[in-house]
Amino acid sequence: MIISAQKEFEEILRSLEQETTIFLVGCNGCAEACQTGGEKQILKMLELLEREGKTISGSLIVDFLCDKTLIKVKLKAYEAQIIKADSLLVMTCGIGVQATAAVVDKPVHPACNTINIGGSRGEWRGEERCAECGDCLLDFTGGICPLTACTKGLINGPCGGAANGKCEFEPEVRECGWQLIYERLQKLKQMDKLAIILDPKDYSKMQPPPYLRSTVMWSLEQIAEETPVK
Ligand code: SF4
Ligand code: SF4
Repeated sequence: MIISAQKEFEEILRSLEQETTIFLVGCNGCAEACQTGGEKQILKMLELLEREGKTISGSLIVDFLCDKTLIKVKLKAYEAQIIKADSLLVMTCGIGVQATAAVVDKPVHPACNTINIGGSRGEWRGEERCAECGDCLLDFTGGICPLTACTKGLINGPCGGAANGKCEFEPEVRECGWQLIYERLQKLKQMDKLAIILDPKDYSKMQPPPYLRSTVMWSLEQIAEETPVK
């Protein structure tokens, strides 16, 4: 199960400050289990955003937000409400947010930070990857993860080694992640986001939080490490 935690409401609100009409998307898979993007949290978010003067054009909870085909089919039925919206607020893990961004021509904002993949990378294996950084940046990068789409995990633009849109590592097979981010931001008319300089990443947030270290599975792994096979 992919473990996520909701971002502070103030941070979510800041990411929506240019927008007035929002469409909410939740996930009935891991995010429901983590209580970050199930029905209860969607209703709560709707209430909080309306209190801040936002209009919610609609909401949808998809069974598994890591499956692009499923998202596309489900969102299609809500097209009229999505057209009215300035953006989508997606309440799930980094994979779900990226998968949603890949099938919608609207800005997509993450409402959660992914803190642990828990051994699984989504129910469906797509090309989206999340490095469980604990402080999701997808809001600034058009819904494409810079930590996984860029070979070097650069968060403030490309390295300068790209040529013809390909990464300097394996140019025959690998797109430059920052070329993809640039093209997505251009399509979304969000080129101003490229001017935002993000703070250096706090990699301590990638460490599993204490409550995850107190599970039975974690203890068993600790014992296994402490008692190696001789
Ligand atoms: S920025 Fe990337 S690694 Fe970090 S939570 Fe978002 S998708 Fe995952
Ligand atoms: S060429 Fe692009 S994807 Fe490759 S390391 Fe540089 S910025 Fe990252």
